[in-house]
Amino acid sequence: MTSEQLVGELPADVVSGDDDTGDDADEFTRSAEAWLKENVPARYRDHRGALSNEETDEIRRNWDRQLHQGGFAGLGLPREWGGQGLGLREEVAFHVLAGKAKAPDGFGRVAKVLVAPMLITSGTEEQKAKYLPKILSGDEVWCQGFSEPSAGSDLAGVKTRAVKVDGGYLITGRKTWTSFAQHADYCFLLAQTDPAAPRYKNLGMFLVDMKQPGVSISDIKQISGAIHFAEVAFTKVFVSDGDIVGEPGDGWSVAMRILTDERGGTETAARYVEIRSDVDLLLESCGDRPELASELQELDIRTELLRWQLSKVVDLEDDMGDAFQRAVSILKVLWSELWQDVTRVGIKAMVAADREHWRYQYFESRAVSIYSGTNEIQRNIISERVLGLPR
Ligand SMILES: Cc1cc2nc3c(=O)[nH]c(=O)nc-3n(C[C@H](O)[C@H](O)[C@H](O)COP(=O)(O)OP(=O)(O)OC[C@H]3O[C@@H](n4cnc5c(N)ncnc54)[C@H](O)[C@@H]3O)c2cc1C
Repeated sequence: MTSEQLVGELPADVVSGDDDTGDDADEFTRSAEAWLKENVPARYRDHRGALSNEETDEIRRNWDRQLHQGGFAGLGLPREWGGQGLGLREEVAFHVLAGKAKAPDGFGRVAKVLVAPMLITSGTEEQKAKYLPKILSGDEVWCQGFSEPSAGSDLAGVKTRAVKVDGGYLITGRKTWTSFAQHADYCFLLAQTDPAAPRYKNLGMFLVDMKQPGVSISDIKQISGAIHFAEVAFTKVFVSDGDIVGEPGDGWSVAMRILTDERGGTETAARYVEIRSDVDLLLESCGDRPELASELQELDIRTELLRWQLSKVVDLEDDMGDAFQRAVSILKVLWSELWQDVTRVGIKAMVAADREHWRYQYFESRAVSIYSGTNEIQRNIISERVLGLPR
């Protein structure tokens, strides 16, 4: 399939407001759509706001296993490592269809989007063989241990220490805002291997078993009431020499590659569906209110611009050069700020029947301009690295 077909096809079939993509859809789209129809848990699809944290967690955990059994885990990962060997177009298409089908978000997302590509690019053969099969099958959950109480935007300033001992390292330090830590079997974390080495050369990337003594996890409740993340203390936690990715001073460069994956196209696809559906709800419930008319029109247009930008990223996948990086870099800022504006109007519109929906969406959307690197930091990156502006 050529890139012209992809960009033309993405908006026309997959990224449309229709519930069904119809007879013109390609084979992948048709099989994904049929599988989702059969497999999305009805309880989650119809009652997701009313389920307890425990029930939601159970559904999310099972969802990773269902994806694997259905042949939809690791769509973009190479076949030799258990992936499906497909491209960004199929990944984006699946996320869009899953969003439309109201599918759960599995706990495996961190591992599939971040850890698997990291291991394929920078891991040893032993690490790939040990970790990739259980990432794809959904049997092992991973969390990301980057942020610390005094190192977030300034990620290079992490204080967690990795002290060399016989056969490995002892990790000591505190990580925070660690999504899914309560459920995780492993954490990939940044720690200082040599405090005397220059900045950016003093970090290692470690694969840490979370189920061993010395790991202590405290829940953090979010403003929406959900508990998605935690603070994690590591006290002399052992990691073997075989579980460092790259060389001891390589952690920063490995981390930078991961962050590009984190801010990329697939999450935007899922978010586009959520934003489109929120905008449609606003148009249905208050499209006839003149005082909201210009705001609603603007939100509608910005949502379509997001779809266009997403299609552009897919179109540029084969290129993977500067133009692709430019297109990807603005996606996170675009969708996060748009969604916050949509939920703000949702709250302002005060439609009684949708009050609970907007309350939840408004609180959840507060976080999106912060995680994966704040929008201020993302704007710094766009201005310095993409536009070449002076610091
Ligand atoms: C829902 C959620 C899930 C998360 N999950 C994870 C996870 O799984 N693993 C993980 O490691 N982290 C996670 N994080 C943490 C997230 O990556 C950090 O919150 C983020 O990087 C910001 O760091 P900070 O909170 O320390 O804020 P700070 O770095 O202290 O920033 C505070 C403010 O100052 C601004 N600022 C800082 N430096 C600059 C600058 N140079 N130029 C302009 N403005 C600047 C920031 O934009 C921000 O507004 C999560 C966060 C959230 C909200």
